Amino acid sequence: MIFPSSGIVTQNHFLVGTQWTYGVSVVTMFDEGFSCNCAKKPRKPCKHITNVKLRLYGTFDEHYIMQ
Ligand SMILES: [Zn+2]
Repeated sequence: MIFPSSGIVTQNHFLVGTQWTYGVSVVTMFDEGFSCNCAKKPRKPCKHITNVKLRLYGTFDEHYIMQ
């Protein structure tokens, strides 16, 4: 399950394919958004995806102002 991201345009993003590890959970960025392997049938983005997005907002602010 891949969740589209509002706020971050992941299409062709330079971090597409990047994985963030939280213990046994892994969040991956795709062109279509973010996915995490912590839940088998997630209905909404989990806390790991939320955390990754918060980190991106803080670290890469300057990349999103232009969108
Ligand atoms: Zn997760």
